[in-house]
Amino acid sequence: MKRLLLPLAALALSIFTGCTTVPETGRRQVIITNEATETQMGLEAFAAVKKETPVLNDAKVQARIERIGRRVADAVGRSLPNAQWEFVVFNDDKTVNAFALPGGKVGVYTGLIKLASSDDEIAIVMGHEVAHVTSRHGGERASQTTLAQGGAALVGALSENSEYKNAFNTAYGLAAQGLVLLPFSRLHESEADNVGLRFAAGAGYDPRAAAAFWKKMQAKSEGKEQWKWISTHPPTAERIANLEQLATGLMPIYEEAKKKYQ
Ligand SMILES: [Zn+2]
Repeated sequence: MKRLLLPLAALALSIFTGCTTVPETGRRQVIITNEATETQMGLEAFAAVKKETPVLNDAKVQARIERIGRRVADAVGRSLPNAQWEFVVFNDDKTVNAFALPGGKVGVYTGLIKLASSDDEIAIVMGHEVAHVTSRHGGERASQTTLAQGGAALVGALSENSEYKNAFNTAYGLAAQGLVLLPFSRLHESEADNVGLRFAAGAGYDPRAAAAFWKKMQAKSEGKEQWKWISTHPPTAERIANLEQLATGLMPIYEEAKKKYQ
């Protein structure tokens, strides 16, 4: 009986203590990981991507992406102690994609940069990725994966029992791999669209560029399976309509912020 109670108590405790809120939307989320661990996972996953895909050897393009990314991250407007922002361009024209990892690591592929026709369009993508980080979507997804592995894995997070610890580490390892490979849920995607567009507008980038960019993605992606961004970020009509509506409401923020950068 005791053996059963301990995991159950730990489960209840971790869910209780793991309740946080996304400040920009007020959405409650269950996160059983801590930010330091998420950051560590993010760093490991980022190092793995760097091994797999060459970083673009073009200081000018890298500086442009860095400048836009930092401006958008500055517009978050609250402190993120664990975010060490880094914006890296990966040299792969066939991959029209971008991704974000806990700890503030953002990767953009040259395929996406070539499709974007302005800084505003790049900023929309940056805003979306930065929002995944600030909303702790990686940690939330890792938590969901860990919870799905069952109570034993969970207890490992809280106990020194090696059997549980191993189960937890296995689940965590799987979650770490998933950080880059798995698409986010629709809920996370629409939250990142919503919050990210506010960041981009707050950084003085035109929010109307979002719908324009997604329409272009939709038109050009037909029949092209290698467009990984499409599989993790489907450009649906619903998404485009949502972004159009959000952009209208964000125009005053954009007009005001734009003055700072003129
Ligand atoms: Zn996304």
